[in-house]
Amino acid sequence: MGFINKLMHLVRGESGAPTMAPDTAAGPRIIPRDQHGISRRDISDNALKVLYRLKDAGYQAYLVGGGVRDLLLGGQPKDFDIATDAHPEQVHKLFRNSILIGRRFRLVHVRFGREIIEVATFRANHSSDNNGTQARQSANGMLTRDNVYGTVDEDALRRDFTINAMYYNIDGFTIHDFANGAEDIQSRTIRMIGDPYERYREDPVRMLRAIRFAAKLDFHIADQTGDPIDELGHLLQPIPAARMFEEILKLFLAGQGEATYELLQDYNLFRYLFPATQAAIAADQSETQLVENFIIRALRNSDERISHGKSVTPAFLLAALLWAPLQARMAKIRNMPPVPALHQAAQDVIQEQVQSTSIPRRFSTPMKEIWDMQLRLPRRHGNRAQQLLDNKRFRAGYDFLLIREASGEPLQGLGEWWTRFQYASEEQRLEMSKELGKAPRPKRKRKPANNDQQDRGSQA
Ligand code: ATP
Ligand code: MG
Repeated sequence: MGFINKLMHLVRGESGAPTMAPDTAAGPRIIPRDQHGISRRDISDNALKVLYRLKDAGYQAYLVGGGVRDLLLGGQPKDFDIATDAHPEQVHKLFRNSILIGRRFRLVHVRFGREIIEVATFRANHSSDNNGTQARQSANGMLTRDNVYGTVDEDALRRDFTINAMYYNIDGFTIHDFANGAEDIQSRTIRMIGDPYERYREDPVRMLRAIRFAAKLDFHIADQTGDPIDELGHLLQPIPAARMFEEILKLFLAGQGEATYELLQDYNLFRYLFPATQAAIAADQSETQLVENFIIRALRNSDERISHGKSVTPAFLLAALLWAPLQARMAKIRNMPPVPALHQAAQDVIQEQVQSTSIPRRFSTPMKEIWDMQLRLPRRHGNRAQQLLDNKRFRAGYDFLLIREASGEPLQGLGEWWTRFQYASEEQRLEMSKELGKAPRPKRKRKPANNDQQDRGSQA
């Protein structure tokens, strides 16, 4: 019920949000317990345990970040993060079930079975570091280490967006709003704390985070926050491929993949995530924009699966996102039968992609199998169709085929054929195979005078 209304009443911000960086000299706005909608019932028991134990040991303890934001929006937080003035070693001592992790950020993970509560010590921005050893900034302004402890006020200001800098205090159940986050929640705005140019230079991944939250929460990005992105997008290039991979999973597998994709294109960032795919989109001459159409349908398909509680695998999505580059690459390979050509192209495309985002083998292997299926699904003669049904990638390969067909690729009813085949009786299946007629002879290319072995393997 009316959290937002209560907040609106509280901020009385008429038309709106401030355009300037938030004024923090006055300290946080404190929203009392009866004027916000967060109750202890909404917070996981384990997070409450951690908050109380810190408080009882004499430390400050706040719930912060996405947990507070999502509760204020009436949603279900993915996880609960806690911020405290206790140092990591002190936190670790309080919880036997905890471990110290991280180098870039030193954190404590308190484990309760499958649930992990992350506890971070308040940090200050690098600029308030006066001995210069704890925080490091590279020549281009990027933060490389960030371990300067600070006060809660300082901790709030080094966070990315105003809506992520609201702190729920276990001592009194108030919310401390350091950057006018309540107003921005009310007006559904993603707004960077501080100077956006500087904050993106410190950590370019914040550009992707702006887009992720805008899509996930259906918020708009404030002009000042969005404007620098076009100019600074290239700063994503040197970000380690492993971190980029983590980000693309969050971008595309959180249920708002289609909206996220559209925003990434609007802000010209998609090209830094999937350069070869962007090139294929740009080169696409088809009237129906086949390449992009396919990507959008694949993302929509995953979004729908997620909203129905079905599983989605990164492999399927990556296979879809890199399908166009794969075909472009295959078209350039000459004198090789389709299967080895596909394997060669797959290897090339993946090798190129891992310059931008890593792809762990546990995903690249099934990706290749999904692609492989696309060559096998047309070959249904004899008892092949029946055998394909038993292939462990049949389902994914078939789903992939349906999306290709729906996006306008001319496949002569292949997807529809497979749909019928799956639901057919044994007799009907035999009949369907028969109707296909004899397997066509593979087309042999005339052997070029001095290029030998390769054609010989073609026995489709
Ligand atoms: P969700 O977990 O739903 O994706 P979140 O806001 O909790 O959203 P996390 O990545 O879990 O996001 O980070 C927790 C909090 O840490 C954020 O709310 C933000 O305050 C801060 N934070 C995370 N990443 C950054 C960053 N790159 N720059 C500044 N602050 C960050
Ligand atoms: Mg979180």
